[in-house]
Amino acid sequence: MAFRVDNSVDRHELGTYFREQVNPHIPREVSLFLRKIDPPHNDGESIHAHMTDTSTLMFDGTWANGKGFRLPECVLVFLKTYNFTLPVDNDKMPEFTGANNRRIDFTADEIRAMSKGKELPSSMRKIDRAHNGSPQDHIHFQRDENDYEAILNKDGSWDPKLNRALTEEEKEFITSLEWTIPSQ
Ligand SMILES: [Zn+2]
Ligand SMILES: [Zn+2]
Repeated sequence: MAFRVDNSVDRHELGTYFREQVNPHIPREVSLFLRKIDPPHNDGESIHAHMTDTSTLMFDGTWANGKGFRLPECVLVFLKTYNFTLPVDNDKMPEFTGANNRRIDFTADEIRAMSKGKELPSSMRKIDRAHNGSPQDHIHFQRDENDYEAILNKDGSWDPKLNRALTEEEKEFITSLEWTIPSQ
């Protein structure tokens, strides 16, 4: 494989690579366990693999929040191809309990119902239910020109903070959800 998969490669390049060259071609037996591989979302993060039960394996072989499962051989082989460090205690991990098919992100219809008819502002990428690593429902903002992705939790806390003030449209939308507007 000509492409070097590590954190020295540009995040956009990695994003395109995983989105176009890797994720659509995950073998079927592997796809029962592994949903997709992502580049870092934010500074300081690493490449990571999202599993079908919502757990996340980081590039260094650690599980996000310590939640994971015993990876079957086909998944280990696949991850090894992309230079992931394999989890050292794989044999001691609990058995896979099955894919969680619940949608993490709200659909456009669900968002309209939650916001009393408002559309998601174009500056916002999606709204997620609480998921691994994010204990509250939250809004993912679009990446800014520095590839920085802000996340706003339902209680008005940031993770990490937006690199600009909220627009009136954004504030109105957050209010329509009956979520807390962050104190800047
Ligand atoms: Zn991810
Ligand atoms: Zn999320």
